[in-house]
Amino acid sequence: DIEFAMAAWPGLTELCQQTTDIHKEILLNQEAPLCVDVRISHFNLPTGQAVGKLIVISNITKRYKAVLTLFEVNEELQKRYDEIAALQAQLKEQAISDALTGLLNRHHLGETLPKEISRAKRGAYPLTLIMLDIDGFKQVNDMYGHDAGDSMLLTLGDIISKQTRFEDFAYRYGGEEFLLILPGLGIDKAIQRAEKIRQLFETFTLEHENKFISATLSAGVATYPQHGKDQDELLRASDQALYAAKADGRNCIRGFS
Ligand code: GH3
Ligand code: MG
Ligand code: MG
Repeated sequence: DIEFAMAAWPGLTELCQQTTDIHKEILLNQEAPLCVDVRISHFNLPTGQAVGKLIVISNITKRYKAVLTLFEVNEELQKRYDEIAALQAQLKEQAISDALTGLLNRHHLGETLPKEISRAKRGAYPLTLIMLDIDGFKQVNDMYGHDAGDSMLLTLGDIISKQTRFEDFAYRYGGEEFLLILPGLGIDKAIQRAEKIRQLFETFTLEHENKFISATLSAGVATYPQHGKDQDELLRASDQALYAAKADGRNCIRGFS
């Protein structure tokens, strides 16, 4: 009698009463895990008459617990992995951006500029650099303090990013120097853009500790391929143009000549 034979395994009685062969793993108790492997084979005479069944029940709780632990460990590992991936993304972001203004920092330049120049070459379109530098910035620091200087840098960073198209790259190039890479833009359009930035910056008044501070900037503009064939030549050309703007009295834009 199955019920009598299976008295120790009440959860399996019904299964054992079935007349087909069975091989199953069954979790009998979840709280204090009890997991069994059940195999039921039927013996029939050649005539088809059933003569008996063999029921083999193995306790596989240990294996079940090991698999469970494995899943938990796996889940924990996945969580750690996600955390590391998020941290890596954050580090990359910090590595390419300037902490004060949020613009790109110059470490990213060596990666981008040569790539953009060769794309411009392949596509036969111009690529223009604008090098901008705040005029008399040392004096702003000296008169109003370093924090006021930082706010001024933030202001200019903000103006520059608002004047940046999706395809452009805006860098904080040095202390109070900024660089724009403008793929596809010729010198005239780029000078207009620089002029717009110059005007916006000139008319901005920074309020700092009840004082009103304003400043101006100068910019030099140089274009690939006329003014330079590679990164070094182009940077040098835009720097020379900036120097010319400073020499011409500041608060102005000069193209390389
Ligand atoms: P010019 O018109 O010729 O450009 O003169 P300038 O005074 O702007 O140029 P100079 O290169 O003599 O001074 C730049 C100053 O920028 C000196 C430095 O103390 C300041 N500076 C550099 N980085 C920072 C910064 O992150 N924050 C602040 N507040 N000042 C900075
Ligand atoms: Mg300066
Ligand atoms: Mg400078």
